[in-house]
Amino acid sequence: MTDSASSSPLLQGGYTGRFAPSPTGPLHFGSLLAALASYLDARAHDGRWLVRIEDLDPPREDPTAAASILHTLEAYGLHWDGSVRYQSGRHAAYQQRLEQLISQGLAFPCQCSRKQLAGKPHHGNCHCHATEDIAWRFLCPAQGEYCFDDRLQGRWCEDLSRIGDFVLQRRDGPWSYQLAVVCDDIDQGMTHIVRGIDLIDSTARQALLYQALEQPLPQYAHIPVALENNGQKLSKQNLARPLRTDNISATLTAALQWLQQSPPAGLQQAPAGELLQWAVSHWDIRRLNGQQALPAPVIFRRD
Ligand SMILES: [Zn+2]
Repeated sequence: MTDSASSSPLLQGGYTGRFAPSPTGPLHFGSLLAALASYLDARAHDGRWLVRIEDLDPPREDPTAAASILHTLEAYGLHWDGSVRYQSGRHAAYQQRLEQLISQGLAFPCQCSRKQLAGKPHHGNCHCHATEDIAWRFLCPAQGEYCFDDRLQGRWCEDLSRIGDFVLQRRDGPWSYQLAVVCDDIDQGMTHIVRGIDLIDSTARQALLYQALEQPLPQYAHIPVALENNGQKLSKQNLARPLRTDNISATLTAALQWLQQSPPAGLQQAPAGELLQWAVSHWDIRRLNGQQALPAPVIFRRD
């Protein structure tokens, strides 16, 4: 490991990282990259690596996907610590955090329709007095910037006037991604988040929730996304091919090379455990510095 050594002040109190997929389909090469980068960064810092299934949106989910994702992670040698957490079992915890924000005056009920908002951000408590059929929103500062230092992307700033008061709980009941992620990351003691740059725009909203809940912000590293031939992100929505489990060494080697790590030729056909052992001891996340998108290897792209 040549990134921050274990004496780094960033690591006081240890390292806990995670991979947190939504169970909308099987793992594909793009999601393997996020899993692998977060795993390697955690293990290279002698850290814990947790897996959390973000199953808060049943209509979008595939009931077989969670089991398939976990099976594939294990087949690739990506063994997690502790038991897998499922967000669907965490409603009481999200409710408690919402109530905390309400009592602080930082969450308010809202019945504004999409039509009323007309695509613009919501700004300011709309003083809705209804008790049913309401969304709960976070009261976001109406102006200014939120900036943070990403380990790979450097200083990254968001204009708060464009964010507006974001939803914590939707009108039809489901918890928002932002609230659930922050509650679980706090509750699970997450110190480092390694994820795709497609989620970097969520970071300011999540950081505002950390501030409101008076919790320290984790360190973020947003890795580039893998691109299809047409320049779109490799994703379930774009029908990326599910990962196979009969060519694991070749796929892991390709994933490591994509992450700019270069396993020696003699190891490229080695079992997953050996390849991962090499990758943990040679992990250098800085090789992805400033990268926002890289083409996926040809065999993982659609025609
Ligand atoms: Zn409103």
